[in-house]
Amino acid sequence: MRVGILGDGLTSLTLAKALVNLNINVEVYSEKKKQIIDQSRTIGITKSNLEFFSENIINIEKIIWKLNKIEINSQKLPREELIKFENNNDQLFSMVRNNKLYEILETNLKKNKFYKISYKKNLLSILDKHDLIINLNPLNLVSKKFFSNKIKKNYQSVAYTAHLKHNKIKNRTASQIFTKIGPLAFLPLSHTETSVVYSINKSNFIKKEKFIELINYHNSKYDIKEIIKISSFQLNSINLRSYYYKNILAFGDLIHKIHPLAGQGFNMTIRDIKILLKIIKNKIELGLPIDTSVNQEFQNKIKHTNFIFSNGIDFVYEFFNIDRKIKNNALIKSLKFLGKTESLNKIFKKIADKGLIY
Ligand SMILES: Cc1cc2nc3c(=O)[nH]c(=O)nc-3n(C[C@H](O)[C@H](O)[C@H](O)COP(=O)(O)OP(=O)(O)OC[C@H]3O[C@@H](n4cnc5c(N)ncnc54)[C@H](O)[C@@H]3O)c2cc1C
Repeated sequence: MRVGILGDGLTSLTLAKALVNLNINVEVYSEKKKQIIDQSRTIGITKSNLEFFSENIINIEKIIWKLNKIEINSQKLPREELIKFENNNDQLFSMVRNNKLYEILETNLKKNKFYKISYKKNLLSILDKHDLIINLNPLNLVSKKFFSNKIKKNYQSVAYTAHLKHNKIKNRTASQIFTKIGPLAFLPLSHTETSVVYSINKSNFIKKEKFIELINYHNSKYDIKEIIKISSFQLNSINLRSYYYKNILAFGDLIHKIHPLAGQGFNMTIRDIKILLKIIKNKIELGLPIDTSVNQEFQNKIKHTNFIFSNGIDFVYEFFNIDRKIKNNALIKSLKFLGKTESLNKIFKKIADKGLIY
């Protein structure tokens, strides 16, 4: 069986590694000679996804930083904790640097006899060379031709990311503050380094100097020595209407792109990989061909759940967006009340860890 993967980003290599582990021949098609992974980007992986990743894809214990508490606060209620999630000192989720994850996957794949990487401009010419094509690149010709029908929302926001170098501190708690201009997350990477993601509404467009000033203003925990690796990204959400066209399956951020405020984008993709692997393994065991039926089954199993999950994240975004525009504290106080309700807190934690199917 031969699978072609279009794109050589993080998700492409993750998926390629999951498939070569099943002794499936995978050819990754890149449109650039060298993939450059942004040094400022980090990903929070949930506990159950990390377990799946290490067992079925590659062991990443060496490059992760485990967190056991998440604090959520609002600038409207200073000195009051809005919601907290913790796991009796056990890990809740783990942070990993995108470039380190990419490196470990690339190094391992290069040594694998089932893996091949090719550089190709005309992707339309290779579509029938493989039993299954998995497309991850939203910008290629295949996406333009077959995957342009989508529900798209422009958040009119920019995510600024950076790394803080600071004096040593016990650093196992992530925190998110819903500020007047958008959510700001502090995501620990070690006892001396923390990554920052600040999603800011475009109407409050700021320059680099102002971004640094705002980090310092909202930071109450770190003794910052240096702020490095500053980058920025436009934010939008996408839900693709159809996940496949014949033997071509769209995957990753191409089928569901979400706001980063809950750190769930890549986690959704890991859950998708889990389902795709199960379908493929089943077919192999039953001696059935790996063809369009895989795509059909995958879409039937996960599309509606992904849509509900994406909308849930969007709801959270809109909730805080409305809250920051109104003057009183009624909404935020009711959220604080809900967050303190133990059964609800448990449900939120479970959904964030395992998604909607558990
Ligand atoms: C600020 C931020 C923070 C995030 N934090 C989290 C988190 O904590 N947890 C979590 O689960 N998720 C998080 N996400 C989502 C996560 O980062 C993405 O799901 C993941 O990085 C997708 O990576 P990718 O390389 O597969 O996708 P993409 O970057 O969309 O790339 C897809 C493919 O398209 C190709 N491609 C893309 N652009 C180009 C181009 N210009 N030219 C040529 N080819 C191109 C690449 O080769 C790649 O194969 C966050 C996202 C953002 C923006």
